[in-house]
Amino acid sequence: MSLLTDFDQRNAATLGRELHQFAADLFPICRSITGDGIRRTLAMVGDRIALQIHEVPSGTPVFDWTVPREWNIRDAYIKGPDGERLVDFKKCNLHVVNYSTPVRSTMPFRELKTHLFTIPDRPDWIPYRTSYYKEDWGFCLSHRQMLALKDLDYEVCIDSSLENGHLTYGECYLPGHSADEILISCHACHPSLANDNLSGLAVATFLARFLSGRDLRYSYRFLFIPGTIGAITWLARNHQTAARVRHGLVLTCIGDSGGFHYKKSRRGNAEIDRAVGHVLRHTSEPSEILDFSPSGYDERQYCSPGFNLPVGCLMRSVWGTFPEYHTSADNLEFIRPAQLAGSLRVCASVLDVLENNRRYRNLAPYGEPQLGRRNLYGSPGGGGNGLEIPARLWVLNLSDGAYSLLDIAERSGIAFPVISDAAAILCQSGLLSPVSDEDAPANPPAEASRSEGSSGRQTIAGR
Ligand SMILES: [Zn+2]
Repeated sequence: MSLLTDFDQRNAATLGRELHQFAADLFPICRSITGDGIRRTLAMVGDRIALQIHEVPSGTPVFDWTVPREWNIRDAYIKGPDGERLVDFKKCNLHVVNYSTPVRSTMPFRELKTHLFTIPDRPDWIPYRTSYYKEDWGFCLSHRQMLALKDLDYEVCIDSSLENGHLTYGECYLPGHSADEILISCHACHPSLANDNLSGLAVATFLARFLSGRDLRYSYRFLFIPGTIGAITWLARNHQTAARVRHGLVLTCIGDSGGFHYKKSRRGNAEIDRAVGHVLRHTSEPSEILDFSPSGYDERQYCSPGFNLPVGCLMRSVWGTFPEYHTSADNLEFIRPAQLAGSLRVCASVLDVLENNRRYRNLAPYGEPQLGRRNLYGSPGGGGNGLEIPARLWVLNLSDGAYSLLDIAERSGIAFPVISDAAAILCQSGLLSPVSDEDAPANPPAEASRSEGSSGRQTIAGR
């Protein structure tokens, strides 16, 4: 049974609710690039999948970077003259600039103000700010809250610590028949932010759980890491492993109500780029393909020139383009069960393509084989939308050992699962035989790279 067929036997509404509930369970934790918040988060991921936890000491050199000191926070507030907490970390962990150094002081408003951050255009939202690599402290609050502060003295407390410790990340490895790997990476370092952070975390966890214990062609490696420094640390410690990555996806911002965006790998025409493009063309939701650029999430590190791994980034709304991005409005209402489940299905569809994308040889290539005699010309019913027979003809025609099933799906405009099913039936009937990976050409024929869509930035209406 194909991955996707099995996936579709699950109830999408139930899956969506479970994904959203997992995000809700993780939401209150104050995460950062190091510290107990990311440890607690990884422990909760580890309750669902087999997760190996790595602790890398502060000060460890990782390429051009150094693993920073570990940050932890217990409490923080700004108290007014009457002792009331006017800004309270315990109500919202975004209130403290992430990685703030400890502070205990009473200071006049004019001095405090230089450490306050708001969004004047969105007076009820709290911004999310970090200061990982420059020692500083600060508070984030709604603009309305700041306007209520007067020219008085305020008691300021940030009960944090910044000390030698560790950078923590989690890794889930699922062995397949081949040592070649598919890498799925998500960041787990943002505090109470739902789309940017938790949506990717939840979908990656559920995807790993779905794949666990399955008979897989590829081996899979799921990384739950702090953004940037986590990916750099993993790459620095796994040069050999990185060389086995054949396909990869960074998952982020995939729970909101926007259509899909896929940012291609630096290579631009890797199999993962073509697989995601194909799947998105055949989903009912709108989607857009973006060319690679060296800004974004951890695809920046995987696609750095020393590695140049075939890793793209799957999103719904693109980071930085939606007003809720990096604010308290990126909350549990901003992500939706149906969208989380839809994103998980797109991931399963992409992996279904990668797992089943092989080359075949037509064993009766002289003229068209007589399908009717083999009961292959009647309508089989099922989910192919009447495309089963055309799919068989396409697979027979192009299976000369050079074209992959993805090449055939793109060339015919027929969705990959229908093409893949056709190949399976033709194999059963003795008309088709798989070509071993060693015998297949490294690149598809130039003719086949003509795809349903053109390359570059394009908008695809769902169909
Ligand atoms: Zn972010």
